Amino acid sequence: MTTNDEAFARAQRATPGGVNSPVRAYRSVGGTPRAIVAARGAYVTDVEGREYVDLVASWGPAILGHAHPSVVAAVQAAAARGLSFGASTPAETELAELVEHRVSLPGADGPRRPVERLRLVSTGTEATMTAIRLARGATGRDLLVKFAGHYHGHSDGLLAESGSGVATLALPGSAGVPAPIAAQTIVVPYNDAAALERLFAERGAEIAGVIVEAAAANMGVVPPAPGFHALIRRLTRQHGALMISDEVLTGFRVAPAGYWGHAAESWDPDLFTFGKVVGGGMPLAALGGRADVMELLAPLGPVYQAGTLSGNPVAVAAGLATLQNADAAVYERLDAVAAIVSAETSEALSAAGVAHTVQRAGNLFSFAFRESAPRDYDEVRDQEAFRYRAFFHAMLDAGVSLPPSVFEAWFVTAAHDDAAVARILDALPAAARAAAAATPAA
Ligand SMILES: *Cc1c(COP(=O)(O)O)cnc(C)c1O
Repeated sequence: MTTNDEAFARAQRATPGGVNSPVRAYRSVGGTPRAIVAARGAYVTDVEGREYVDLVASWGPAILGHAHPSVVAAVQAAAARGLSFGASTPAETELAELVEHRVSLPGADGPRRPVERLRLVSTGTEATMTAIRLARGATGRDLLVKFAGHYHGHSDGLLAESGSGVATLALPGSAGVPAPIAAQTIVVPYNDAAALERLFAERGAEIAGVIVEAAAANMGVVPPAPGFHALIRRLTRQHGALMISDEVLTGFRVAPAGYWGHAAESWDPDLFTFGKVVGGGMPLAALGGRADVMELLAPLGPVYQAGTLSGNPVAVAAGLATLQNADAAVYERLDAVAAIVSAETSEALSAAGVAHTVQRAGNLFSFAFRESAPRDYDEVRDQEAFRYRAFFHAMLDAGVSLPPSVFEAWFVTAAHDDAAVARILDALPAAARAAAAATPAA
């Protein structure tokens, strides 16, 4: 039998760091990453045959649980009809219509339909990269505004003070990004209304767009302060810039219409980006928004974007089946599981005397090992992250797979039944005691 240690040693000789995406390497929690060979429902199985209750869910897509029978059947049927055509398909139009419909909400002045056109791409990175190119093409301006700790994928202009793996590895950004390109991105502290107003007052006429995570969830979960998105909307409109809401992580996970549908306030962005859930676990993402902006894309307009595998029929089948099955009962279960797991984890940490806060954005949640809830990236980084390392490993040893970084959200699925939840809850007291006993050097 191959062990996880053997699998990882071999992976490190074949692949940089043994991984194809950095956070998978366990660098911030230490130890050997589990080599996963199968996943079903709420569980993943490693190469040693050990089963774990999974709270990573492929970093979000698996809202129905892993290998949901309807999704697998749709993928198998699509694959049997051909893997890729390099031509238009009726199914990709169906997926676009479904997304456009799902993000439509009733409004005071009639229905709000913020996504009038949708284009499919293969990754969230491509979606945000293209949305930014569109904002620049639409405005004829270069400057992009992003928020510290927000992650929008790994394209050159977007790595400045990013969350996710950049946060996990404590990188300031990335080597290999030319200074003139980095200079086109201005990073503002998240939830800092005054800083944003000041920036627009000084440089508003140069700003092409503001990109913001619909709710920050790549530095742990940090929801937007009341009125913050509305302020972005007001300032961008006032100064002729575009607002891009990045729902790659939150979209179709926190509510049928994404965080946009979940938030109490109303702010209609010009462009949305989607990924993760919309592809149902296959490489598929999308950007969408106002028709007049979206139709600046080639072949109609001057902003170029393309993809050999864009709208791949197998990926489209997975996305369609996932969204079609994500009904009200699914969202109820996601919310219920998130509520109990977050509350019981907090209970266990309190009982062990571990200072912490829990933050939620719908059914997404995470913990910060500090006294007060962090509102921005500086506060997120100011915590006893070493406690998570001990907590993570105690949970893993007890058969629960958490995100291998304190800077990531926990992801539940609708397949987390009472038995799976019970396994999580059973593991909590010992893990909380491990967190309490942890020391920075350990
Ligand atoms: C995951 C993520 C991305 C990048 O998507 P990839 O498919 O990994 O390229 C972009 N934005 C947000 C908010 C994300 O969570």
